[in-house]
Amino acid sequence: MLIIMHVNSTAEQIEQVKQKIIDLNLTPHVIPGRTRCAIGITGNKGALSADYFKHLPGVVQCITVTKPYKLVSREVHPEDTVIELGDVQIGGPEITVIAGPCSVENELQIFDIARQLAKMGVKFLRGGAFKPRTSPYSFQGLGEKGLKLLARVREETGMKIVSEVLDTEYLELVTEYVDVVQVGARNMYNYSLLKRVGKINKPVLLKRGLSATLEEFLMSAEYILSHGNFQVILCERGIRTFSTHSRNTLDINVIPMVKQLSHLPIIIDPSHASGERNSVPPLARAAIAVGADGIMVEVHPDPENALSDGHQSLYPFQFKQLLEQVQKIAGIIN
Ligand code: PEP
Ligand code: MN
Repeated sequence: MLIIMHVNSTAEQIEQVKQKIIDLNLTPHVIPGRTRCAIGITGNKGALSADYFKHLPGVVQCITVTKPYKLVSREVHPEDTVIELGDVQIGGPEITVIAGPCSVENELQIFDIARQLAKMGVKFLRGGAFKPRTSPYSFQGLGEKGLKLLARVREETGMKIVSEVLDTEYLELVTEYVDVVQVGARNMYNYSLLKRVGKINKPVLLKRGLSATLEEFLMSAEYILSHGNFQVILCERGIRTFSTHSRNTLDINVIPMVKQLSHLPIIIDPSHASGERNSVPPLARAAIAVGADGIMVEVHPDPENALSDGHQSLYPFQFKQLLEQVQKIAGIIN
């Protein structure tokens, strides 16, 4: 259930509603919003009667939320969520572009690509320090050394850092170094990790699981919001289908659906969706055309010699062209 408070409701009135919810052994969530104050309720097993709340001072309306996910749903939060990170926003009028190599490999590589991307005006640098590799014998990432390099890159370029956390053990460490904590596709179902990132106060980029339905994806986001962190960015990165011509299949359909069902921003990762360099630009352009809030693209200064995902990484000159194209498309569709 969602309790809508009067725009001029007092802090005491909000407190009284929260206390009533707690007295019923349920959990209140004060939902941030620009135009109204709302309090979401979770923890009830069946339908909850509005009679408990409708006569409390300051309460305007009690709305039953019909979806299994509550806090991520647009029913609860009609306006788009805009995540602010200093002077940049995610989910606002400008598209978000996150670019960088699959993995941080060494100082030369990460500084080289970061400087090139910063010069193009890219505000977010991606780069894995802890890598979820299919084979235990593949490069696993530089760990803390990689995070330290990313922090130095931020210092020099001013770019915001996006990097993945693989498990709860390293969450504190990763959170300390990065601006946006990435939860990868393989961890979308890792509920203990989701609960923990729900308690940090940095934005979380949540990637869709390899074969997750939209409802499962949104329920994973709900784990994060229900533990107090409303700064979640969804990321569609392709799903497993019967197709064998690409690494995964980009579910472009999911963007308008997410826009209907949720207030959270959604970006697209065309690199992991296609697995093949030449397919990345067209998929990225399509993503922006269909209304995604941004893209996350793998770019490497020397893709032929990359330690991971080289064949899907763009050359910097290709990425520069793509950047110009997606900016134009974003301008057309507003
Ligand atoms: C990544 O972004 O580096 C990554 C491993 O992606 P995914 O979790 O989508 O496979
Ligand atoms: Mn990769």
